[in-house]
Amino acid sequence: MIKAVRGTRDLLPPETAVWNFVESVVRDVFRAYNFQEIRTPIFESTELFARGVGEETDIVSKEMFTWEDGERFDRRALVDAWRRAHAGKSFEEVESYSPGEGITELECFYDETHVAEIVMFSTRADEAVLNALAEAVSKFVGPPSHFNHFSETVRGRLVVPSPVPANSESMTEDGIVIEKLHGAFHKSSQSLTLRPENTAGAVRAYIQHDLEKRGLNKLYYIGPQFRRERPQKGRYRQFYQIGAEVIGPASAGSESPARDAELLEMLATLLDRLGITGWTLELNSVGTATDRSAFNEALRKALDPVKDKMCGDCQRRAVTNPLRVFDCKVPEDQPIIETLPRISQFLGEDSRKHFEAVQEILKSVGVPFTLNDRLVRGLDYYTRTAFEFTHGALGAQNAILGGGRYDGLSEALGGPAAPGIGFAIGEDRLVMSLQESAAAKDVVRKPDAYVAPLGAGMNAEAARLARELRRQDLVVELGDETFRLKKSFEAATKAGAKYILIVGENEVKAEAFALKNLATGEQVSVARAELARSILSSS
Ligand code: AMP
Repeated sequence: MIKAVRGTRDLLPPETAVWNFVESVVRDVFRAYNFQEIRTPIFESTELFARGVGEETDIVSKEMFTWEDGERFDRRALVDAWRRAHAGKSFEEVESYSPGEGITELECFYDETHVAEIVMFSTRADEAVLNALAEAVSKFVGPPSHFNHFSETVRGRLVVPSPVPANSESMTEDGIVIEKLHGAFHKSSQSLTLRPENTAGAVRAYIQHDLEKRGLNKLYYIGPQFRRERPQKGRYRQFYQIGAEVIGPASAGSESPARDAELLEMLATLLDRLGITGWTLELNSVGTATDRSAFNEALRKALDPVKDKMCGDCQRRAVTNPLRVFDCKVPEDQPIIETLPRISQFLGEDSRKHFEAVQEILKSVGVPFTLNDRLVRGLDYYTRTAFEFTHGALGAQNAILGGGRYDGLSEALGGPAAPGIGFAIGEDRLVMSLQESAAAKDVVRKPDAYVAPLGAGMNAEAARLARELRRQDLVVELGDETFRLKKSFEAATKAGAKYILIVGENEVKAEAFALKNLATGEQVSVARAELARSILSSS
C-alpha cells in the first residue's frame, strides 16, 4: 500500500469542516480589518528564502525542500556522469553527430560480455529518440576492425537524466536499454524550494508588482508551507499557515506602533471569535539592526567563555549569529542561556519608545500580554516588535502563532524601503486547540433530509424534489431507486440525516410525501410545497 509520506497527512471529513469553519471566521475577521488576500506560488527560487529568512536560521540551514530544476539539460554533464558510472567498462567514441533535436551524441562501447552498444544521450526517452536509436542500431556497420566479431549483438542504449538522485536501467520491447542517470543538469539550472513560510514570498510580490504605489498594503494568505522537521504531534512537514502582512512605504504609516497594536488586537479578536480561551500573548522588542549589532557583540563576548559547554548548534551560532542561541531547545543549555545579556538592555531610544507605544495601545484596548525578553523568533528578518501567542493545551509545540516587524526585509531582497509587520498562525495547531471546543462540534452540518426514491423510474422524480429542497438551502442526500426501503433507511441513518423522505409513485401523484423523523420515528404526510418549511422549522 502506498501511504502518505511521513510528516504529511490527509485531512478528512468531518475534520475538514473545522478547517473550513476556521478559514471562514478568519476571512470574516480579516475583512473587518480591511485585509485582502494574496496568493503566491508554493515554490520560489531558493535564494529568496536564503536572503529573506536568513542562511543561519534552522529553516534555511536544515529544513528546506530544495531541488535543482533540471529543465536545462547539459549534454556534457550527462556524458561525463555516464563515463564516471561506467568507469570499469571499455568504450570508444566512434562517431559524434546530432541525429535529431534533443539527441546529442552517439557513442559505442563494448563490455566484458562482448555486447556492443550504441549509446545516445537525450533529455528524455520519447518515441522519436527511441526510433532514431533503433534505426541507428539497425544500420550500424561500425569500424570493422573493432566490431566485426560482435556484429550480431549490437544493442541500443539511451541515457537520459534521472529526476531523482538514483540511477536505474530498464529495457524496451525492442531491446533498447534505457538508463536514467543522476547528475546531469546544467550548472546554471535553477535551485528551487518549497516555501517554508510566506512572508518572503509576499514581500517578493510587493517588490515585483510595485505595490508600494498602493500605499499601505494589508495582505493575508492561507496555504501550505513545507519544512523538513522531525515529525511529531503538532509538527508536520507539510503544514498550513494563515498569515497577514502590513507593508508599505513609511510615508503611508507602515512604521507606526499603531499598526503593531492593531495587528495584535486583531489576533486577540480572532482567537476569541474562534472560541479559543486561555491564550497568552508574549511580547518583546528585538530592536533595530543597529541595536541588534551591539547586542550581538555583547552576546558574542558573553558566549565566548561558555560556548564549549553548549550544544553543537549553539557553538556554531555563537560565532555566526549569536542571537539564534535563544532558539535553543536543549535543556542542558538553558541555565547558560539564562545568564546571557538580554536585548531589552540594548534597545535604543527609538526602539524603546516604539515598543512602549505598542504596549500603551494594547492596554487601552484591553488586550493582555506578558513581556518576554528571550523571545527572538526563528527568522532573521525581525526588527523591533516580536510576538507569539501560545496555548497551554498544545503541549511542547505550544506556539499557535508568531510574528513581528521586518522593517529591513524588502531592502534585503533588493526592493525599496518598506517597513512591515506580520504574523503566521499554524492552522494545524489552531484546529487542534479548537477540536475540543463546543464551537467546533457544531460546524459539521448533517443532511436535513435523505430523499429515497422507491421503485423503478423514481430516480428522476427524486432528483426533481431534491433540487427543489436544495434550492431552499436544505442539505439533501439523494438515494437510488434500486435500494429497497430497508436499505434506504440504513443509508439515511448512516448519513446522519434528520428526515427520510419517500418518493414513490403514489406520493408523486398525490403531490404529498411521507416525511419520517429518523430520531423519533414520527411520520407525517406533507404537501410538496410545504416540505422545506416543515423540515426547517423542526431543526
Ligand atoms: P514560524 O513561521 O516558524 O514563526 O511559525 C509560525 C507558526 O506556524 C508556529 O507558531 C506554528 O504554530 C506553526 N508551525 C511552524 N512550523 C510548523 C510545523 N512544522 N508543523 C505545524 N505547525 C508549524
